[in-house]
Amino acid sequence: MKEILIATSNAHKVEEFKAILEPEGYKVKSLLDIDAKIEIDENGTTFAENSRIKSETICKLLKITTIADDSGLEIDALNKQPGVHSARFMGYDTPYEIKNKALIEAMEDKENRACRFVCAISLASCDQETKVFEGIVEGKVSTEIIGEGGFGYDPIFYYEPFHTTFGNMKPEIKNQVSHRALALEKLLEYLRSGECE
Ligand code: IMP
Repeated sequence: MKEILIATSNAHKVEEFKAILEPEGYKVKSLLDIDAKIEIDENGTTFAENSRIKSETICKLLKITTIADDSGLEIDALNKQPGVHSARFMGYDTPYEIKNKALIEAMEDKENRACRFVCAISLASCDQETKVFEGIVEGKVSTEIIGEGGFGYDPIFYYEPFHTTFGNMKPEIKNQVSHRALALEKLLEYLRSGECE
């Protein structure tokens, strides 16, 4: 059975990857299983770059095929912010309720409420070129916080096809349409094609 490491300590992400990769015959490990603290400087300017930095750094260090995910929210009227700084926007430890309220306030006088979640998943292995798969889901910044589900910016991400926010949707429904689901689908297609040795 082929082993893959997910370059994250985020239990939520690990579970999402496990649910998809284990039925495909992969043994999934994450940084939660590794007894080492690895600091990575995510200094890229795009999600794809940051994802690649994470997977290649860990693959080189631990000599194991590695998957990394970098994602975030882009708001058109705010110059695509918080963008690649989504996790560190207003400080890593600031509660999302405060971050979300601040974004709603910043959007008060904006007509264009278009935004999107972007996810770049990269696959780095010792003997093959790194591959990057991107998933994007379009939405609108809601005018208020709606729902208590999901995480991060989900309660302000209004998904028009379902007339509500990601924060107000069941996880299994969000996981069918999300940026991460779309990127994962592309990764799976690649893994199933057998091109990854
Ligand atoms: P990363 O772990 O460095 O990729 O940071 C991703 C950040 O983007 C998260 O901490 C959230 O703030 C935001 N984000 C990414 N995906 C989602 C999502 O599905 N829902 C809500 N927020 C998200």
